[in-house]
Order: sequence, then structure tokens, then C-alpha cells
Amino acid sequence: MSTRGCVAIGTPEHWQGVYNHWDSYPTYLGAKLWEHLHPNGQLRDLNAFAEDLLMYGDWREYLNRGVCPCCGQKGVGQPHTISGPFYDYWLRSEPLPEPFQSNLEKHGYPDPEAKYHEHGNGPDDQISSEYPDPLYIEWVYVINPANKVMTVLTACRAPKPANAPVFESIRPLRVETPQGSVWWYPDIKAAYRHVVVASIDLTGPEPDWRNIEVEGIGSVTKPTTSMLFLPCIADVSGYISQRKETLSVVRNAERRCI
Ligand SMILES: [Zn+2]
Ligand SMILES: [Zn+2]
Repeated sequence: MSTRGCVAIGTPEHWQGVYNHWDSYPTYLGAKLWEHLHPNGQLRDLNAFAEDLLMYGDWREYLNRGVCPCCGQKGVGQPHTISGPFYDYWLRSEPLPEPFQSNLEKHGYPDPEAKYHEHGNGPDDQISSEYPDPLYIEWVYVINPANKVMTVLTACRAPKPANAPVFESIRPLRVETPQGSVWWYPDIKAAYRHVVVASIDLTGPEPDWRNIEVEGIGSVTKPTTSMLFLPCIADVSGYISQRKETLSVVRNAERRCI
């Protein structure tokens, strides 16, 4: 199952960043991000990194320099809702069913005409502290170029606010409480928020990601994304049956599924 996250620029209170679909845990995304920020062991120019990152909507799109790995088009957004069997292309390197294999050999991409996948909206897909969706965005890595600190946030369940709105809404609503703001999800009648797990000096030694992960998982009640698992559209078409999404994710963000 995917563990959603965000690589962001800003401060723990005010951040904006790109979406990450798979394995956003510190031991994976945290470590990858550290490696990316320290090519050859030297800290990157963080202002340049920030400017570059925020041209995109998705971490993979950023890593791919905006080139869609399905069709090879540039600047079209991250691919999603992939209905062709070439999805397996990402999972294992086996010959693809036709016409994807021929396409790959002829054009270098399995679906060059984008007949079997759609595209995201680039920077319009960014996530920010204005609407952080802490039920689904489980880990956020906020990089502050000004002080060269990376703050790791994790999502946790918060007590039901006394002033929780009573009206129905599919989108979560921000509620101010004496402990700070939380996000109230009326459909599941639960509140979530992001909390700081670690502040890491990017000029110092690499932290122990496992400790940060254990700290993040242990110190808070993790989101219990409804236990009702439903297949996403791609699963329905039978190509990625091992990938399951939650009901709410299907409802909210089908376009984010690949
Ligand atoms: Zn594409
Ligand atoms: Zn999916």
C-alpha cells in the first residue's frame, strides 16, 4: 500500500511542496532525500533546489526532470490512472505486452501517444500547510533553505475538538483549538494534524532514519485510514491487483493512483 508524503520548502508552520505516492517513510524517502540533497557528500545549493522543486507537482516528476516516463513528453505532469499493462514496466523488467513493447523499442516509451495514461497538473498538484490533508499525507519533509534545516512531520490523530463543525463536508475543515489547529474530517468524524518528529541540521551528519521513523510512529496514534480497502480503477482493469487503495482515496484522489 502506498504511504503518501510530501517534500516541501518552508518552515514547519508554512510550507509548500510536491506529492510522493509510494513509501514516504523516513527509512526510504527521508534517506533518499538526504542522499539527493548531498550529492558527493556536499550539501546542495538549497535555494536552487527549492526553486527547481516547486516547478513540479510530484517528487517523481521532479526526479524525472518533468519528462513523463510513460510517453516521454516533457512538462505534462506526473502520469496517473495508467490503464495499460505497461504499469508493470515500473515494477519489474519483463517484456511488455503489445503494443507497449514495440512502442518501447521504437520510441523509447511504452505509451508515446498517451492513450493509456493521463497526466497530473504539475505545480497545481502541490500540497501546502494551507491544506495539508493529514489523514492521507503521512510524512512531510520540510526543507528551509534559510537555516539549512529539514523538519520531519508526521500525521497523527488528534482529540475531537469541542468546536468541531456539525455540518457535512467531504473535505476536511480546519478547526482552531487551544493546542493549535487540527483538521476535522466530518465523514469519518475524526481530527488529524501534522506534528514535528525531528529537526535535522542539513550541514551536520546524516541522522538515523530508523530512529526518526520509530519516534514518529511510536509517539503518536497513526491515521487509521479506514480499514475498508477497495481496488482503485487501475486494479479494476486487472493490471495492478496487488495495489489497493482506500475508499476515501478512491473518492478524493483517483488521479493520484498509478
Ligand atoms: Zn505521459
Ligand atoms: Zn491506485
